[in-house]
Amino acid sequence: MEMRLTDILSKPLTSKFEQVEGFLNNTKLKCGRQKKIKAGKIALNYFCRNCDIDITFVSDEELFCIGINERLVSIDCVLTCPRCGEVIPVWFLVESKSDIYSQAPDIRVLKRTERLTENVLLGRGKYDDFSELLEKADRAYRDELGAGAIVYLRKVLERITFQTAEAIDIETKNKNGKHRPFKEILVKVDKECSIIPKEFSENG
Ligand SMILES: [Zn+2]
Repeated sequence: MEMRLTDILSKPLTSKFEQVEGFLNNTKLKCGRQKKIKAGKIALNYFCRNCDIDITFVSDEELFCIGINERLVSIDCVLTCPRCGEVIPVWFLVESKSDIYSQAPDIRVLKRTERLTENVLLGRGKYDDFSELLEKADRAYRDELGAGAIVYLRKVLERITFQTAEAIDIETKNKNGKHRPFKEILVKVDKECSIIPKEFSENG
């Protein structure tokens, strides 16, 4: 059976083009023009803090499509938690191999951006010491802020290292009560517990 636009929008992003049922009625959508389309419902999983569960947020039947050029459209929608009604605005940039308004275009999603509130997480059921930092790293990475993501991941690594050091009685502070340098602790901890994969430790 042929897929619909919303089947692709509900899946994880990939670089592969997939054929879907046409969604623009064989009519070109001029740059900047907006059209309401019906192509099923978008369904994506997030963690809803109000409901305290991982849950599928769902869109309306009607989506807003904005023309960019022959091969690109942007799609706006709002996803809603079916239990409490919490909303997430989501925006997609959809590319097709040839004319996007054709009867059966091959498409892929170039970018997906969601505006998350503090009540919604990307999807992690449990809270622990690290979940907040990992969530921040995830969000930064999604917004293509690789360097930003690394900052949070480095904090996670530092915390794991210091916690491990304390657990195995490695002194983390020097005589005047200050933290010893991270690298020094990391080398000692890794020697005892091997927390760094070899392929990383070998090249420093
Ligand atoms: Zn909810």
